[in-house]
Amino acid sequence: MDLGIAGRTALVCAASKGLGRGCAEALAAEGVNVVIVARTAETLEATAAAIRAATGVDVKAVACDITTPEGRAAALAACPQPDILVNNAGGPPTGDFRQFTHDDWIRALESNMLTPIELIRATIDGMIGRGFGRVVNITSSAVKAPIDVLGLSNGARSGLTGFVAGLARKVAPQGVTINNLLPGMFDTDRIVATIAAQAKAQDIPVEEARRRRIASIPAGRFGTPDEFGRACAFLCSTHAGYITGQNWLIDGGSYPGTF
Ligand code: NAD
Repeated sequence: MDLGIAGRTALVCAASKGLGRGCAEALAAEGVNVVIVARTAETLEATAAAIRAATGVDVKAVACDITTPEGRAAALAACPQPDILVNNAGGPPTGDFRQFTHDDWIRALESNMLTPIELIRATIDGMIGRGFGRVVNITSSAVKAPIDVLGLSNGARSGLTGFVAGLARKVAPQGVTINNLLPGMFDTDRIVATIAAQAKAQDIPVEEARRRRIASIPAGRFGTPDEFGRACAFLCSTHAGYITGQNWLIDGGSYPGTF
């Protein structure tokens, strides 16, 4: 299927590895020029080179921390008028909520709620003016079904979800859609940290925690960044213009509800 977005420009945050990289690769494969952001220049440049070689699109790499005002300014200087914005950043640490300090909460809110809102604020009027825009926020299945050791994530991402639910309806008439992708368990570096925390909380070996997690997924495996990226690319396509304000769970069937 031709997604109808060749020649568009996307700003993809936190994209040197994992789910963000999967999104950048899938968009580039559709002919979208991408500006990718991550903190470590070397890893980011290697990812940019790989995407360029695989697709031939224009790939710019901006090494910065997207959760800081300076980082966002650098990303927006390289890509002031994206047609597509993929919001992503590292997830907050795990732990018992009694140990989270006020500063921990502020950091989680900065990363997983306020940074996406700031980037939407900076780019959405351009999208509205051009009559086309796609915003995809990478959140978490924790928004729909909270994960006990991830209280910071459960809380901060739900704040973003509530905000976006309102804004998506306001910008829909102008051809701009805003949706959230909710990953369940995907095979990335992040999963290693989450499983280690669960192993500690349950006092079991990490391998056993990993086995139990996989056994709990109806698909019988973790998802791949490629699968995730392709779902993102579809949401960014011309065909997805009537899909907005949605929370798409991609979790191999883990969420047990009918809806
Ligand atoms: P990952 O650790 O594999 O990759 C994270 C990427 O983000 C890397 O490229 C890293 O350099 C970049 N990054 C992190 N913090 C950044 C910052 N402040 N500024 C710029 N770049 C930054 O993680 P992932 O598994 O791809 O997860 C992406 C997001 O999805 C995270 O917020 C994570 O919590 C969430 N999530 C992941 C899963 C999963 O199963 N992998 C499940 C639920 C939620």
